[in-house]
Amino acid sequence: MLEYERLEMGYCMGFLDGNLNEILSYVKEAYTKVYGIQYKKLITDRIDSGVYICYDKDSDSDFYDKCLKSGFKLDHEYTRLYLDAVKDDGNLFVMHARGKDGKPIGVMFLPISKELDGQVEFAFLHECGHIIDISNFEANGFDLYGDFHYVNPSDYREYERFNEALTDIFALEVIDVLHDANIYFAEGKNDLVSNTEEINTTFQMKEIVRVLLDNYRDEIIYSKLTGDYSVLFNKVGKDNFEKFNNIINQVQCLIDGGLFIDGDNDLFAQYYGFLEDLEMVYNNMNKYSSKSI
Ligand SMILES: [Zn+2]
Repeated sequence: MLEYERLEMGYCMGFLDGNLNEILSYVKEAYTKVYGIQYKKLITDRIDSGVYICYDKDSDSDFYDKCLKSGFKLDHEYTRLYLDAVKDDGNLFVMHARGKDGKPIGVMFLPISKELDGQVEFAFLHECGHIIDISNFEANGFDLYGDFHYVNPSDYREYERFNEALTDIFALEVIDVLHDANIYFAEGKNDLVSNTEEINTTFQMKEIVRVLLDNYRDEIIYSKLTGDYSVLFNKVGKDNFEKFNNIINQVQCLIDGGLFIDGDNDLFAQYYGFLEDLEMVYNNMNKYSSKSI
């Protein structure tokens, strides 16, 4: 595993409590529990083919060289300028890349100097979810990179919010599995943020997506992991899904407009209108799926 020693240093700095191999073995096990044993190999392969680059935003002067040596192909888009910008941002995130064998893989950038803020465990597991979702070069889970049909003023890709909410929900399920086994690898039990439902996507957004997930869990997991959306679309109807996704994006617009911070009556009226529309879409999906059996 790459950057192993560096992570040991990260451990000393209190970023990840343990070593990367051990942590990733927990991650693989917990995601397999959440997604199902039939995905054990897929999950293992994707996590193992991932590249994990620990870096120190302030002191890593050889970042580009480190990336060169790290096990993914540096295409023309990964210029020194681009990668140094990645380092300067200092974020924990996953980038799509080409593995040494030409296949799509995820590269995770782990900022070891990041202070623990009670969300590191969540952020790391969410990003592991993205690595597991990489089945091709065009998408991550449901989020189509090539689709620059931005849907609202915040510049989201069309299925981005749906995919992010799903990724958050599954990361939370994985955290439950780990905590049930008393595994805490980043922050200690008492240092975690208390309201994990509000990280990245809001609680309300997750609740909307959970209704769909509760009803079509198998199809959603299959489509998310394989990039073959037809399984979900055939179940619920493509039109119904598009309507559902459209409502999600509209609700996101309201949230970004301050709905739950200082939203006025008008914003809430729109929000409740969307919730009613959702009820109709859920019903239509149920009808469609009972016909398609
Ligand atoms: Zn994400």
